Amino acid sequence: MSESIKTYTAKKNPYFKNGEPLNKSKVISGQASSIIKEFDKSEKAISKSLFIESYGCQMNFSDSEIVASILSKNGYQITVDKESADLILVNTCSIREKAEQTVRKRLKVFNSIRQKNKGLKIGVLGCMAERLKHKFLEEEKMVDLVVGPDAYKDLPNLLKDLEQGREAVNVILSKEETYGDISPVRLATNGVSAFVSITRGCDNMCTFCVVPFTRGRERSRDPKSIIDEVNDLAKKGYKEVTLLGQNVDSYLWFGGGAKKDFDKATPLQQKTAINFSILLDLVASEQPKIRIRFSTSNPQDMSLDVIHTMAKHKNICKSIHLPVQSGSNNILKKMNRQHTREEYFELINNIKKLIPDCGISHDMITGFPTETDQDHQDTLNLMRRVKYDYGFMFAYSERPGTMAARKIKDNIPEAVKKKRLEEIIDLQREHSNYRTNQFLGKNVTVLIEKASKKSSDFWSGRTTQNTVVVFPKQNYKVGDFVDVLIESCTSATLIGSAIDYSKDL
Ligand code: SAM
Repeated sequence: MSESIKTYTAKKNPYFKNGEPLNKSKVISGQASSIIKEFDKSEKAISKSLFIESYGCQMNFSDSEIVASILSKNGYQITVDKESADLILVNTCSIREKAEQTVRKRLKVFNSIRQKNKGLKIGVLGCMAERLKHKFLEEEKMVDLVVGPDAYKDLPNLLKDLEQGREAVNVILSKEETYGDISPVRLATNGVSAFVSITRGCDNMCTFCVVPFTRGRERSRDPKSIIDEVNDLAKKGYKEVTLLGQNVDSYLWFGGGAKKDFDKATPLQQKTAINFSILLDLVASEQPKIRIRFSTSNPQDMSLDVIHTMAKHKNICKSIHLPVQSGSNNILKKMNRQHTREEYFELINNIKKLIPDCGISHDMITGFPTETDQDHQDTLNLMRRVKYDYGFMFAYSERPGTMAARKIKDNIPEAVKKKRLEEIIDLQREHSNYRTNQFLGKNVTVLIEKASKKSSDFWSGRTTQNTVVVFPKQNYKVGDFVDVLIESCTSATLIGSAIDYSKDL
């Protein structure tokens, strides 16, 4: 017997894309409001309802799908109605202070529901779990359950502990856990695009970044389980997969374990290890009719092999998200970024040489401690040289426990950060406008993802470069690849008319 249920994840946490506050995952993955999910026979009788809400990066949204899978096998049905839920889980983000504030506000809302719904349990998952476990549980008494990003398999036990009046906390970070054996329940999906996690954690230790502390050491997932998941998505009709990790280009499978232990692997394991370009090649060859994207790339780890692999496969999207964070070598050094401005330009040149039409996007932090006007000018100059298609731009937010918080005073006034951020956003808008104008009069292949927000008579989809395209629906449907003639544009969107079904991806 199979049973259909509706699942839903609210998406908050706006990022700035070309100056517009916007949800990062929307840009990269696309989404729609609901899905139908088939449960298999082994799943336990459904008796309780779970409302799950996610904040932050795509990894968090992907993790919520793992959590949904684990709990659906333990008697929970996912609900869109938080008022009547038995369990509310909030998958949290710590990347900037504002993200944490947003989660705190939501927890207050959920606590007010508890006044009416006495049996309701509330849990915090993800990056805020480790940092704030005592505060949440003891001081503020806002939550019943605290679970870190590597402990989701323990959720059923923790929920039992909770029922029996015991403390329910597990924030232990693992050197092994990748959830490779779990088949995610796709939340808020359009049935067309899906995330597939390939690495967890990060070893980079950028001085501004809390990720290594909240998500632990970098580990890679078994390529077989990645390919199995991609094949399963293809079977279910998905047309686009985004391989996810904090630093995907650093992917290295040598039989399991933390990447830092690669030196201790046997000579055979080292010789037969699979790196990101090999993985990309395997995935693209396995499913030539599926679009493949990946995110995020750290400049120092992106090899020429990866760019060659992208150039070789039609189905690997010609789009690279390549955070630079600053255009100043002084600041890059203080951020402990493992690349200079010159090395970054060399990488961009190589990308443009091998894939001339490649879309390139960035993350930028302005107002890092000690940043001078000259450093800021270096950032603007770097942007002028690259002319990114789009970017996510942030004012520096000091994060407790990071190297920058411990060693460098946050000495840039908020007003200066704000002014510099505005200049960066304005320049990015100019460049985005320049990039979208290059498409005028051209035919592009678009994968249709959903109805356009502005008009239900139009479809919305993306080009291989990850640029959004809207066009009149005619008889096309979600999931179709369509050739579209671009007739006009804004800085963020191409507008055109469909010509025919596309033979390309
Ligand atoms: N792993 C990727 C990297 O390091 O390039 C992305 C990490 S993070 C989830 C996404 C973006 O948030 C970063 O690229 C950075 O621009 C921004 N970010 C991280 N820490 C920040 C901080 N303390 N203040 C402001 N922005 C921050």
